[in-house]
Amino acid sequence: MSIAIDVAIIGGGSAGMSLAANLATLDTGQRVRVFEPNTTASRECHWGLWANATQHEKLRPAIKGHWQGWQLVDHRHQLVKQSDNFTYTSLSSSRYLNYCENLLHGSVQLIRAAVDDVEHQADGALLTAAGETFQTAHIFDSRPPRAAAGGLIQHFVGREIRTQQPLPNVGIATLMDFRVDQSRGLHFIYALPFSKHHLLVESTMISRWAQPESWYTDAIDAWLDDRGIFMAEQLALEFGCIPMDSVYPQDPRHAAIGAAGGALRRSSGYAFSYIQQQTRQLAERIASGHYEVPQPISQQLLYMDGIFNRVLIEYPELGVSLFMDMAAALSGEQFARFMLGQASLMDWARVISAMPKGPFLRQLLDV
Ligand SMILES: Cc1cc2nc3c(=O)[nH]c(=O)nc-3n(C[C@H](O)[C@H](O)[C@H](O)COP(=O)(O)OP(=O)(O)OC[C@H]3O[C@@H](n4cnc5c(N)ncnc54)[C@H](O)[C@@H]3O)c2cc1C
Repeated sequence: MSIAIDVAIIGGGSAGMSLAANLATLDTGQRVRVFEPNTTASRECHWGLWANATQHEKLRPAIKGHWQGWQLVDHRHQLVKQSDNFTYTSLSSSRYLNYCENLLHGSVQLIRAAVDDVEHQADGALLTAAGETFQTAHIFDSRPPRAAAGGLIQHFVGREIRTQQPLPNVGIATLMDFRVDQSRGLHFIYALPFSKHHLLVESTMISRWAQPESWYTDAIDAWLDDRGIFMAEQLALEFGCIPMDSVYPQDPRHAAIGAAGGALRRSSGYAFSYIQQQTRQLAERIASGHYEVPQPISQQLLYMDGIFNRVLIEYPELGVSLFMDMAAALSGEQFARFMLGQASLMDWARVISAMPKGPFLRQLLDV
């Protein structure tokens, strides 16, 4: 005996749970099941975004820290950005997923199990999970995508620590501090001071190959040492590897959402805001009987990000200055809009005029 449902969501991470929460809030009456084998605690990490006042209010239960200012630093410049409309905000992923889970009710339910098998039929599919079979008309698949072999990746290790001495400048998030070893690829430190004695510090590389874990932790320790910051206690260790090239859904027959469904920004690795937009719009479509997944990142933006990444691969020595020059060209407000994919034509003109023309033209002609 199979259980009849209308919508199956494979994967209850950022996209799957956001979609389920939006569908529950809209009370569409459709029978929705989201399948996720892992607990929220087991996949705790930090998700950063630029949030406006409305998003800030909505995401409040999951917010771990927020900063009016953010900075990019190299050996020559310290660029501090600020915006009246956006704060740089860091969420606890487990608190966000719990918040979504609390919104589920009635016909929208979470099943804490993996989807083991999917059998496609003329009018839908049969899913097997938790020893049961579900007959569904629609599938949205948010399982992590496969990445193009040899493509650019953003890989990092982070230490969340309590510090012995109070931290300076707790009002500013460090997005990129390039004053670290650049010999193996574009490398920077990301540091979020949650309070005077509580810091997340990550060593991040954008390159084609990951390094052994000790390479990142040594870089973190050296950066802390240089600033006279000593660890009192390590609270957590975080790992990540985000594809910054073409990605492919696990099963091309399913409608993909989230990172697998075109919501991952290739030039930055940011996805949270795009996932929010995609899942909100998709839920509204489903409520009116349409099931096509919206693409939150436009073709033009995908194309521009692709050119940017090719310049990073072909001219690794330009990496630091590309990010610093881009930041220098924009105000805090413009920078946040740019990261959110909401740049105006004037914002684009500022960024393009700050970029080295030769390398970009060569990549444009190559495409
Ligand atoms: C450590 C880390 C930090 C990141 N930080 C940021 C950030 O600061 N800002 C930002 O914008 N983006 C960030 N990203 C990128 C992106 O936002 C995240 O990867 C985000 O989780 C993508 O959401 P998703 O729903 O597409 O995939 P996921 O959140 O990865 O969800 C996919 C889910 O599918 C489940 N799954 C797998 N197989 C099955 C199966 N057979 N059946 C059922 N479920 C299954 C997995 O358990 C998983 O929970 C980060 C990524 C990582 C890895």
